[in-house]
Amino acid sequence: MPKPLILVTNDDGIRAPGLELLAKALESIGEVRVFAPESQQSAVGHGVSLHKPLRVTEISKNWFMVDGTPTDCVMLAVRALLGQRPDLVVSGVNPGANLGDDVTYSGTVAGAYEGMLLGIPSIAVSDVSYAPQRLDTAAAVAVRVGEYVLERGLPEDTMLNLNVPDVAYTELKGIAVTRMGRRNYQDEIITRQDPRGRLYYWIGGAEPTHEVEEGTDFEAIEKNMVSVTPLHRDLTHHAVLHRFYETRIEL
Ligand code: MN
Repeated sequence: MPKPLILVTNDDGIRAPGLELLAKALESIGEVRVFAPESQQSAVGHGVSLHKPLRVTEISKNWFMVDGTPTDCVMLAVRALLGQRPDLVVSGVNPGANLGDDVTYSGTVAGAYEGMLLGIPSIAVSDVSYAPQRLDTAAAVAVRVGEYVLERGLPEDTMLNLNVPDVAYTELKGIAVTRMGRRNYQDEIITRQDPRGRLYYWIGGAEPTHEVEEGTDFEAIEKNMVSVTPLHRDLTHHAVLHRFYETRIEL
């Protein structure tokens, strides 16, 4: 039996420690190919580069650097460069949570989202600490969940978003299958002047807070559990469709 082919990407750039740990860990369950951005791409969301050429550099065996986004990386790898379809796409390990509303901003989630769009079982993995000490734990969790997914597959149009507490593997309290919670962002627009006297703006502010509601990804993390949220490709709010049918929006 040939080993499964695993495509690994991230949004922090090809030199990020979380990527290296993840790729190494996944070698225990498959043949790994890394396609990762040249530079920091955090919070680029599902962006794709349509207005510039993309360059790919093989920086070491099976490690490919792309001067684009995580979505570019997965698209190029699967549609052009891998030579065969991967059995699994894993994106991460991101240093910092991708919980609740973070999901649509996240380049890490987008890497897996693109895998899902291409019909490949895909997983995004984040360590919830912005200054992580235990990226190895998240990498080990990715291997466990990766094995599960390789064995059983995923439902159609579904990807998994994993968030892992920044603790030793033995301190984890298990896995919780969760729904997305809600963030309260505290973004503040900082206005400053550049050396030429022109104004510039920087989106900053304090770390976002959140509400801990039952069954959410945030609750799992509070309990020191791994949060596994199945995300669906269809963003339609099906439960409210009928209301718009009834009240009719007309031209
Ligand atoms: Mn990132």
